Amino acid sequence: LTSTIKDPYPDWKPGEPVPYAALCKTFSLVEMTTKRLIIMEHCALFLRQVMRLTPDDLLPTVLLMINKLAPDYAGIELGIGESLIMKAIGESTGRSLAVIKADQKEIGDLGLVAVKSRSTQPTMFKPKPLTIRGVHKGLMGIATLSGNGAQGRKVDAIKKLLSSADSANPGKVDITKDKGGPSEAKYLVRFLEGKLRLGLAERTVLVSLAQAVVAHETFQKDKVPSTADIDKAESILKTVYSELPSYDVIIPAMVDHGIMNLRDHCKLRPGVPLKPMLAKPTKAITEVLDRFENQTFTCEYKYDGERAQIHYVAKDSEETLSQATQGAGKEVGGGVASIFSRNSEDLSKKYPDILAKLSTWVKEDTTSFVLDCESVAWDVTEKKVLPFQQLMTRKKKDVKIEDVKVKVCVFAFDLLYLNGESVVEKPLRERRTLLHKAFQPIEGEFSFATSMDGQELDDIQTFLDESVKASCEGLMVKMLDGTESGYEPSKRSRNWLKIKKDYLSGIGDSLDLVVLGAYYGKGKRTSVYGAFLLACYNPSSDSYETVCNIGTGFSEVVLEELHKQLSDIVIDRPKPFYTHASSGQHQPDVWFEPRYVWEVKTADLTLSPRYKAGIKEGVDPAGEKGISLRFPRFIKVRDDKKPDEATSSRQVAEMYRKQESVTKSKGPAVDDDF
Ligand code: ATP
Repeated sequence: LTSTIKDPYPDWKPGEPVPYAALCKTFSLVEMTTKRLIIMEHCALFLRQVMRLTPDDLLPTVLLMINKLAPDYAGIELGIGESLIMKAIGESTGRSLAVIKADQKEIGDLGLVAVKSRSTQPTMFKPKPLTIRGVHKGLMGIATLSGNGAQGRKVDAIKKLLSSADSANPGKVDITKDKGGPSEAKYLVRFLEGKLRLGLAERTVLVSLAQAVVAHETFQKDKVPSTADIDKAESILKTVYSELPSYDVIIPAMVDHGIMNLRDHCKLRPGVPLKPMLAKPTKAITEVLDRFENQTFTCEYKYDGERAQIHYVAKDSEETLSQATQGAGKEVGGGVASIFSRNSEDLSKKYPDILAKLSTWVKEDTTSFVLDCESVAWDVTEKKVLPFQQLMTRKKKDVKIEDVKVKVCVFAFDLLYLNGESVVEKPLRERRTLLHKAFQPIEGEFSFATSMDGQELDDIQTFLDESVKASCEGLMVKMLDGTESGYEPSKRSRNWLKIKKDYLSGIGDSLDLVVLGAYYGKGKRTSVYGAFLLACYNPSSDSYETVCNIGTGFSEVVLEELHKQLSDIVIDRPKPFYTHASSGQHQPDVWFEPRYVWEVKTADLTLSPRYKAGIKEGVDPAGEKGISLRFPRFIKVRDDKKPDEATSSRQVAEMYRKQESVTKSKGPAVDDDF
């Protein structure tokens, strides 16, 4: 970064759209190494070149690097299955679907199948080379196609992109060499599948972006960036992104105003959902006391519903709900509001009843806010919280207020923004005071999370018992004072601990796992799947590592429902980014696209040669056994989590280690659950 760079992409002139081939060249360099620093260097060099030559393309470049088309809250998803991609590859290269399928069976990587198909195709004419902005636009077009015949039109649009692919660097690519090389077709197909598989974490792109921009800015002043400049730029971009996770807003601001001034232009704002702060699991109250030794903390009921981040701006305020969510804000009495889920999806169409009542609990001098809450099913007759299962029966979209049968009450536990100002850095005690001042509780509609500030073990135990009697899951224990008690967006923090009643004697928490495969049912279950293969997610290798088979906890109705849902995403063979035992006897009968996340309970964790969870985390010194769940039990489908938000391999390893330090061997491993 401290040197002037050579021009590795001679075809790309200042001001011209960035060639897609240039990005693919960078991808291919990244794919050849596993070293994070080298990956970062390749990315930073390329981004710096974009910033220098064509800053207008910086946004689509970053988006294509992180395998996204828009911020999460925009709700834009490609949602394209393997079969559609195979059809498009076949049709664009004049090969039959049967041949493509056979190749896929043999090669196992659709990206490489596309490369192979293109290299056998005679090139009659040379289409115009792809550009980054053209690819982004094309993919966006595919994602937003809907209505009659959408599938067919999607195939046509993919074909169009694929036919122009590799025209910048034609010639035969040998798929056995260099992981397929810098082929555009390969990366296009992988983008469509939702996994670039470069080992390029979003965080790495963010840091590279900061480095690239600070280097560019300093070189423009004929200076060389110092380490302190680079550190400062990285820290600014990380903070800004955590409060305003939208490259669509940040990148143009950075190009216009420079990275060092970014905080003045990009702040938390109503309309752009933040990634929520998360908690660490604990399995004993004493563990909580050890953690918060000599520090004040507070306990709150842990409500069992759905996380809801509520954004609001009053009509007569000088602010507006951010442009970034154009059209998403709903008119509510006196203002405009939006509700977002744990993973930033717009929930406004699910909770029109919350929006309708919102103005009654907002006090008059509260002009704008962002609230962190849990929406919980509410028993109107008994005037109490209902279990999560009741909330699940609500429709997810296009809910009409008059049809709502399960009422919800909003329990607010944090305030992130108030009257034009971000309050995330204030201590929790202050945020709580502001929260209580700005809102008016209304029974059964809006309430503050019940809390208790006692610091003794007995107090906590009694409060935990009360929370469970009140149909809650347990407690959240949070740092109350000092800088550490600030709200940390997107972090799983030691300053928030969860104590779940059910897990006090087990591993401290349930796990959220991705369904990768299934086994046909036996006996009563012959028409449905009887058991499933589940995996956790490893963000460093961007892969899914198997962790258990599960066949317990499903009712007949649920099994039928799951069979219907999963039949639509069956694939011929495991994806190359599934890490599972290779031996034949352990293979499931069918494999699925990685789409659904299920919450699962377990008695404890054990090591097994059959599963691969956490195998790179050093739990087994020989590196042969992964972690697996003993006696896993299905709890529920987690609609609010995407597969890459499943429990990570590191978290599974942490749970395993913690359990190891408390209890020693529990006898032989029981890996199977049929
Ligand atoms: P994780 O990724 O931590 O497993 P999760 O969504 O599965 O996240 P839980 O383990 O159930 O979450 O614990 C945190 C969740 O508890 C929050 O996301 C929120 O929805 C819910 N919650 C209920 N009451 C509170 C509270 N008082 N404070 C914070 N979160 C609460």
